[in-house]
Amino acid sequence: MEGVLAILAVLLVIVIENVAGSTGDRSQMFYNCLQSCLAENCSVSSPAFHPPLYLKLLQWSCNDECKYMCMWPTVNWFVEAGIGVQQFYGKWPFVRVLGIQEPAATLFSILNLTCHIVMIRKFRREVNPKAPFYLLTHLFCFICCHAWFWSTVFHIRDVRFTEIMDYLGAFSMVSFSVYHFFARVTALNSNSSLYSLFFATAIGFYFVYHSYTTFFVIMDYGYNMLINIAFGAVNIVGWSVWCYKYYKRRPYVKRCATFTALVGVTTLLEVMDFPPLFWVLDAHALWHLTTSPLVILWYSYTIVLSTSCGRREVLEGIDGIEFEWNYLLR
Ligand SMILES: [Zn+2]
Repeated sequence: MEGVLAILAVLLVIVIENVAGSTGDRSQMFYNCLQSCLAENCSVSSPAFHPPLYLKLLQWSCNDECKYMCMWPTVNWFVEAGIGVQQFYGKWPFVRVLGIQEPAATLFSILNLTCHIVMIRKFRREVNPKAPFYLLTHLFCFICCHAWFWSTVFHIRDVRFTEIMDYLGAFSMVSFSVYHFFARVTALNSNSSLYSLFFATAIGFYFVYHSYTTFFVIMDYGYNMLINIAFGAVNIVGWSVWCYKYYKRRPYVKRCATFTALVGVTTLLEVMDFPPLFWVLDAHALWHLTTSPLVILWYSYTIVLSTSCGRREVLEGIDGIEFEWNYLLR
């Protein structure tokens, strides 16, 4: 299930981070304004750019400042000409708050991070440490917190490094969930440890290789999209089949099915890409907002599953993982 969540995280990254030129920054109006701003403020002969400390800390250069300042008259020009709001460098125009580029998406990324922290604490309080997948849930939480941390940083300030870290953070969630899914599917096999090691090594190496090429060779958006769709498809199909198979027999599977359905609905926010309301709230930020309750739902489901298994595991004294699978597949 967390795979479905992770896929959405990647979809949003792909949508937001396509930094190829856009209609706004390619317009003559923007070009003229930018050239004049650069000449007036950023040339060696007339360095008129003296930003406040918070802008300096967030790495706003004179060039960036000119782009931001020239964006708004260009937006007005587009609106008055009846063309409508256009994107600039692959992004909608956002009002900057204290140097933060996308305040709403930043806030909602922090919200997701907080939900993971609150829910893992609840998980730790309620679940027996001997329950199946106890450590795996912690690892998943760590990977998600890491990803949401970089999502927060990226939405505060979009530069090449934060963009790649945000992207790789999202891909780490998808990669891990593929591993998690295979680990669960093969948990009852007598060679389960070997399978687990194989999947962890294969996926881990691929992730490292992909991170290396993204950082040091090329940031290929098309290829990135392809591998995320491939990894995501394994998760979605796998979990959907699982939900379908056990939906009627196991009441708690309802949470899994509800989760999958809600994820589908929230995905529409990414498809329905629209200019930000009040220059703050765009579809991407709203998507981040809607994923936070899904985090709570996923942990609730995991807690129910783990506490049920934990109790009976103690009573019947059988191996945790085997028990869970016997319990689920019965
Ligand atoms: Zn984002």
